[in-house]
Order: sequence, then C-alpha cells, then structure tokens
Amino acid sequence: MASTNVSVVLQPLDSSDFISTLRSFHRILLSCVGPEGGIKILVSGAGYTTFTSSSSRLLNNITLANPICLFVNQIMKSQINAHHDHGLYTGILITSLLEKVLSHHTGLRVPKAASIIEHLNSILTGLFDLSCIKLKVDFSTVKQLLPLVKSILSSKPACGLRRVDVQDLQLNIVKGFLQTTGQTMGDVIVECTEASEIKSHVFPGILYQINYDDISTILHQKCNKNGSMSLILFNIMLTGEGNSKISENRSIKLEGPQDDICFVDEALKLFEQIVELDVDIIACQKLVHPTLYLYLRRKGILLLDRMGTELTHALEKLSGATPISSIGHCPRDPDCLRSLLGTIEVLRLVVQGQKFYVSLEKAGSNISTLIAHAPNEEAAMELKVVIKQSLSALRCLMVCPAVVPGAGCLETSLAIRLQNQAVREFDRYSCTRSQLESYVSWLQIALLSAAGFKTDSCLLTVDTVFGHAWKPNTETCCCGLVSMQMVRDGSGKWIEVFNNHGILLLQDFTVLSSLSSVPLTVKEEAVVDLYHSKYSAVKLSLESCVNLLGIGMIVYKALND
Ligand SMILES: [Zn+2]
Repeated sequence: MASTNVSVVLQPLDSSDFISTLRSFHRILLSCVGPEGGIKILVSGAGYTTFTSSSSRLLNNITLANPICLFVNQIMKSQINAHHDHGLYTGILITSLLEKVLSHHTGLRVPKAASIIEHLNSILTGLFDLSCIKLKVDFSTVKQLLPLVKSILSSKPACGLRRVDVQDLQLNIVKGFLQTTGQTMGDVIVECTEASEIKSHVFPGILYQINYDDISTILHQKCNKNGSMSLILFNIMLTGEGNSKISENRSIKLEGPQDDICFVDEALKLFEQIVELDVDIIACQKLVHPTLYLYLRRKGILLLDRMGTELTHALEKLSGATPISSIGHCPRDPDCLRSLLGTIEVLRLVVQGQKFYVSLEKAGSNISTLIAHAPNEEAAMELKVVIKQSLSALRCLMVCPAVVPGAGCLETSLAIRLQNQAVREFDRYSCTRSQLESYVSWLQIALLSAAGFKTDSCLLTVDTVFGHAWKPNTETCCCGLVSMQMVRDGSGKWIEVFNNHGILLLQDFTVLSSLSSVPLTVKEEAVVDLYHSKYSAVKLSLESCVNLLGIGMIVYKALND
C-alpha cells in the first residue's frame, strides 16, 4: 500500500541527521564549482540518466526532500534570477556557515548565534563600501570594461574558446555594448554559430540572414538607393488561418482551405494600397504566402520574411514602424497607413564566413549585432548564453559602475577585515571572545569556500598589505590587481591561509591588523566581479542563515526506501 511508504519526519535543526543532510548538500554544491567540477551522472527514480556539468541543470534534476535544502535551492535561484550570477556561490556560503554553526557546541543558544551572524553581516556589508573593495569603473576607457567581460567568458570553459578567442570576443562584446548606449539603453542582438574559424564581428543595426539564391535584383537596387527607405512591418503570419503547406523554396501545394484564398485576396488589397505609398521594404515576423511574395517582387518591393520575434522587435525600435497585427483591422486610409511606416537609412549586403546577410542601419540607432562562432553546436548554444550574461553585466555596470576584486581576492580581503573589526568591537557581542572568534572563523571558511578555495589548499597565501589571495610562483595576486612590488613597497609579507591540517590561520591579529584601504585601479588584465551581484549574494546568504536559524523544528513527509 502506497500510504505505508510515507512517514512524517521531525528533525530539530541541530540534529545529527539534518547536519549530515546539509553536509551532503554542501558537498554536491562544492562539486559544481569551477572547471574541475567535472561531469555528473544523474539517475532519476525512473532510471532516466542525464549527464551534466552545469550547476543549474544539476539543481533542477536532483530531488531534494528536506525543506531546508529546498529553501536554499530557491534562494540560489532567486539570486540567479535577479543578477544572472553567483547562485552557486550563495548556496555554498549558506550551507557552509549553517553546517559549522549547527555542528559545533559553543554553549550559545541558537537565537544568540543568529544575532552574532546578524552583527557580522552588518560588518561585511559595510566593508563593501571601502574604496579598495568597491572599485569604481571609468566608462571613458574600454580597458576598464574588458576585465568584467573576460572574467565571465573565462569562467565558462564549455564554450570551447582559447585565450586568443576570448581576447577578440571580449573586445567585440564591449564594442557592441558601447554602440547601443545612447540616451536610452539599446539592444545587442547576438548570433552564435558553429564555425572552424572562431572570430567575432560587430555590426551596427540589424543583420537579416538570407540564402545565396535570395540575392535578387531588387535587393541590389535597394542597396544602391540613396536616402532613407520606408518600411512596413507585420508581426503576424501572412498566410491565412489555415495551414497551407509551404515548403522552403516558397512553392505551395494548392490544397489550402477556402479561408486562405479569402485571406490572400484581402491581403492583396492592402498590399495594393501599400504600393501606392511607395514603400521600399515589407518585413514580416513570420511566413508570407507565395502569392503575396510574387506580387511584391513584381512591384519591386523587398520582402524580409520569417524574421522571428527578436529581430522584429529590434526592427520596430530601429525603424520606428508600428507593427501591423491584423489584416482585417488595418486602417485603409492612406494617411493612417502612412503613420505606421518606419524608415531605415542604409541597406547593405554583408558576407560573413559562408553566410549572407542584409544589414539594416539607421544613424543614431542604439541597436547592434554581434556575430560569434564556437567550435561546435553545443558550445555555440553555451556561448550565446554567456555573451548575453556579459552584456547584462555591462548593463548593470551602467546603473552601478563598480566592480570588486575577483578570483577569491575579495573573500580573503573581507575575511581579514571582518576579523579585525569584529574583534575591535568585541564589547558589542554579549559572548566570550573565543565564542566570537569561532563564529568569525566559520564565516571566513564559508567565504573562502564560496570563492572556490579548499581547506587543503595549503599553498594559498595572503599578503599583509592588501589582504589579497596568492598562489605559489605568481607575480600578481589571484585577481591581478596587486603586484609583488606593491606588497614589497608597503613592507608587507605573505602568510599562509591554511596549515597542513586544513586549519585556518587568519587569526594573527598583529600581522593583519592594518590593511591598506588605498583604492586599486581596475587594469585590463584583472579578474573582477560585478559589485552589485557579489554584494547582494553575500547579504542574501547571511540574511538567509539568520532566518533559517530561527526555525525550531523541521517537519516534512519523507518517502521510505
Ligand atoms: Zn587580488
């Protein structure tokens, strides 16, 4: 009987069962971090197998029974929805801190623990205002925009890009973005295809792909025309309601229902009026009936059909045309009809690799097209997502023009500064100094763990001037903003972050007590993250921990094996 397989589970938050569930969940999240995350095999209850290396796919596919894990999963998704990044980071920070707090008995009750974390959260969020953490970005130079894009592109190895490809692409993403920033924010249309030569290109305006066979006399005439061209835009299927079978080469099987013929007649009447207005181009989001296509060709009007949603929206913005969504309800009065027209200034034929495009441009428009290539189809799909993520990060940068050091340098710097400030303000916490130090060190470990550092990375060091992270035998810190010379100039030295047993060694108050707060300049080769996204990830994680610690008992239904 099915009902006997379900039982109600009652779990106190600090029970060993819950802590062990939390620990495994934390381990799953950690295993997704970075290029060494590797591919996972997921087997569903029905025996369905999926191979994936993507954390979002993994999280969507694993079944989480425990409500707290489900809640953490939701928080990660909300971070991704709001900022397109740092979801995994948020999950690791929460689970790491929660696991440490719940599995150690410091003699403090849970509400007290929550209030200490609340205090530490306010210190951390305050540290984000320091001019050495919140690095201002200067829009007058491309060099300061490149690091953010490079950091995003390099963090996604599945795109199959080499170092040199990333350099070319990051420049074009920034170029495309800058072309669209006028008084209002424009659009960069992204097209990614599989190609042997991985080069990217940016074009002003919109690119509409055509077949070689579609290059007609009309197209050449329009391309040679001087002055602006008028355009009318449809966002409906111009084939009638019935499903006429129209093949790729625009031939039609004459088996369409009567409705189609009525539709074509009505559309032809409208098209006759459009011809009277001396329109150059008719653009349509969807399919166009071959009869209408032939009619337009005879009248010397260029037809751009099957544009798709994205291009149609872009063309609407570029040309200023009002899209027509009904033949029956379209105004027949010439003046009304004329008011729906849009204009473009330049029409060009563009050959890119093996493909042909018609480029539609207008001076002062804030739309550009970026064409990028990847070694295979799977990588091209991944690349499109990553490019869009980079563009969205650049757009966020316009709103809040600041970045933070990346590659773990932010977290080490925060961890040390947190320690200094918390210990200095020790009187504010009604607990013993060793209790406070335990909480600080758990938060430090959680931050470093979210940054991708493992406790067995015994070769990791931190400098005593800026508090940035260093790997062995490198001339600069992990993020690239601090050079060895800068540390030497500040009479600094390097100390180990973890000892051989994985114990954190950041408690040396005297050595690390006076870190520099001098602003660092964002250099082209640096690794940086979006300020707003990191800030909200840290804040959201600690607030969620405080909320979760307020839960007395977890109650849920579990399926018995
Ligand atoms: Zn650094």
